[in-house]
Amino acid sequence: MVAASPIRSLTKRALVVNCYFDDSHRPVRRPHKVPSAMGPVFLAGAFSPLCEVRLYNEVASGPLDDPALLGWPDMLVLTGLTNAFDRMLHLTAYARVRNPRVIVAAGGPAVRALPVLSRTFFDYACEGDIEELREVVADALGAAFAAEEMTPRYDLAYWIGSIGHAEASRSCNFRCDFCSMTAEDRQYRSYPVDALRRQIVAMGRKKRLFLVDNNFYGSDRAHFHARVELIEQMRAAGYFGDWGALVTTDFFYQNDNVERVARAGCKLLFSGVESFDVAWLRDVNKLQNVRSSPVEQIGRCLDAGVLFGYGLILDVTTRTIADLRQELEYVLDTPRIPLPAFLTLPIPLLGTPFFRECAAAGAFLPDTKLRDMDGTTLVLRPRDPMPEVVGFVRDLLTLRGYRRRALGHFARFARRYHSVLTAFQLKAAFASVALLCAYESTTMGPWNRLVSRSRRRTHVTTTEPLDRTYTPAFRLSAGYERYFMPTMVTDAMGRLTADVAEAAAPARRVRAAATSPVPVGS
Ligand code: SF4
Repeated sequence: MVAASPIRSLTKRALVVNCYFDDSHRPVRRPHKVPSAMGPVFLAGAFSPLCEVRLYNEVASGPLDDPALLGWPDMLVLTGLTNAFDRMLHLTAYARVRNPRVIVAAGGPAVRALPVLSRTFFDYACEGDIEELREVVADALGAAFAAEEMTPRYDLAYWIGSIGHAEASRSCNFRCDFCSMTAEDRQYRSYPVDALRRQIVAMGRKKRLFLVDNNFYGSDRAHFHARVELIEQMRAAGYFGDWGALVTTDFFYQNDNVERVARAGCKLLFSGVESFDVAWLRDVNKLQNVRSSPVEQIGRCLDAGVLFGYGLILDVTTRTIADLRQELEYVLDTPRIPLPAFLTLPIPLLGTPFFRECAAAGAFLPDTKLRDMDGTTLVLRPRDPMPEVVGFVRDLLTLRGYRRRALGHFARFARRYHSVLTAFQLKAAFASVALLCAYESTTMGPWNRLVSRSRRRTHVTTTEPLDRTYTPAFRLSAGYERYFMPTMVTDAMGRLTADVAEAAAPARRVRAAATSPVPVGS
């Protein structure tokens, strides 16, 4: 039980939750999944010291169904990826039943894409940047309970461990058709360098630092060099050891960029390769990726002593299985580059140009559920016959048929780069192989692996059974039935439902933060 505070009338309680549906469609925990969810850490900074704040991350801790914790807060703040929208509804119902006066604020890409629908469930459907939460807190609880400056609450993030996470910029200066950044159409903005410094100081000394920006490189070269210089200085001062970041492909156009970050202690760069097929990249407006050979770029990065990470999108809607297998085999035969860290089906995220195209073309499967937009479930009509595609997806999720080749690839990769990569980097490269071949064992504990295995999936949204979490974990009063029904993207004929029709409207520019994009106080 959660103990009652003797000074409750003078304080307010806030619970910030990262909502999540697991890829296995089971109620499991993935404490080792990286990168870690950082939304709750930044959002918690919106509350003043007059508030008692708790965080809960469903990725690391599993579905939140503790009645005591759900009844504890005066304010519940929910965030999560697009497909977690229904989990936000579940938690809203639980919290309201346990505490009828609770105030619920929700944000994230699904809420921004579905503001009208969201307003029917949440007291505050936040369409802006994280700073909007300060205004919400002031409005809902009183100005005294809103922080003057937002300081990330790393101290509450029990799931982060020895890797510090920080953010030097927001959004992206590119507009790939399938990306939620494109749906939101926000301008790329860099934080002042001093704000990054304050974040790093606030997180305390860590073994490693990961910059979670969508694009650490960005469009302002002077600012990029200034933030690398700061990171170099803070590393020298002992705040962290190795560091890594996400960059867009244009980072590699400039020959000395990789060497510059390598000198500053960077050991890992992650970049969205998505595919080696130039026609596909052009088709999805990822034109920054077609200017030069990705294998050459990746090889130069590794030669400089920086490990390269990436994922591949298996677009079964426009490409044949034979074509996709050929691409995968090309990677398995190329030890100049590492294996991808993940393989995913295309996800038509709400509000993206890709979503609108799919809706206009009638490409969605009947009875598509928003929850199934997870990259492991087919939500679009494939090009090849469905049974073959399902078999392909099932195999690829554990690399069945390619595991021996994957291990051979790693052996050749390690031989080639052992003199320039550290033991830790080689271990991280092997982690990609482990994630591809044995995702379950790599990201969860033994009990959860058993739970996860006990369920047979169809990998097709029309027939995929609902997760167990759609059944309420405890008795709820009448009126909450809709909160436990899946949000449908299409009806039985494959037509968009009224619930998500607003996400098919042309892109709206997301409301800019009322304050400067500085997420930390001094
Ligand atoms: S470069 Fe990456 S972050 Fe930027 S729009 Fe494309 S997919 Fe999104």
